[in-house]
Amino acid sequence: MRCPFCGVNDDKVIDSREVDAGGSIRRRRQCKKCGKRFTTYEHVEQTTRLMVIKRSGDRVPYDREKVLDGLQKACYKRPVSAEQLAAVVDAIDEDLFRLGVKEVESVDIGKRCIERLKRLDHVAFLRFASVYMRIENVDDLLEEMQDFRENAPPPVPPDQGNLF
Ligand SMILES: [Zn+2]
Repeated sequence: MRCPFCGVNDDKVIDSREVDAGGSIRRRRQCKKCGKRFTTYEHVEQTTRLMVIKRSGDRVPYDREKVLDGLQKACYKRPVSAEQLAAVVDAIDEDLFRLGVKEVESVDIGKRCIERLKRLDHVAFLRFASVYMRIENVDDLLEEMQDFRENAPPPVPPDQGNLF
């Protein structure tokens, strides 16, 4: 970044922090030539901002924190690490941005979460699926469950001794 004081393009970043709830990064820089400090901001270019179409038809900017929050709730007290969840959200981010679309339905994001949770933890997967997909997608959910059963290891047979 060219120094606004002496015009030399040789600086070092001395501090970086997220501002605007992660929407921007603020960097403090110091010119190596004259030693003066200046600030730059890094934003996502507006044209690349992905919009999410909610069930209500409202559009809101895509927010990976919301996706992460939903996944964390589904994984409450389950053996899924924060790193695993961050990796899931990273992968979903990447998928969505690689699609190159400007809008995506929230249900589509939900399905991507379900697809990945299924490989991590079956309880979290079912919790997420039942909360997220709701009744309108019950067929999808049944299909997912069927799919899961087919791919899951056989369940431990319940102890039937107390039934009779
Ligand atoms: Zn300078």
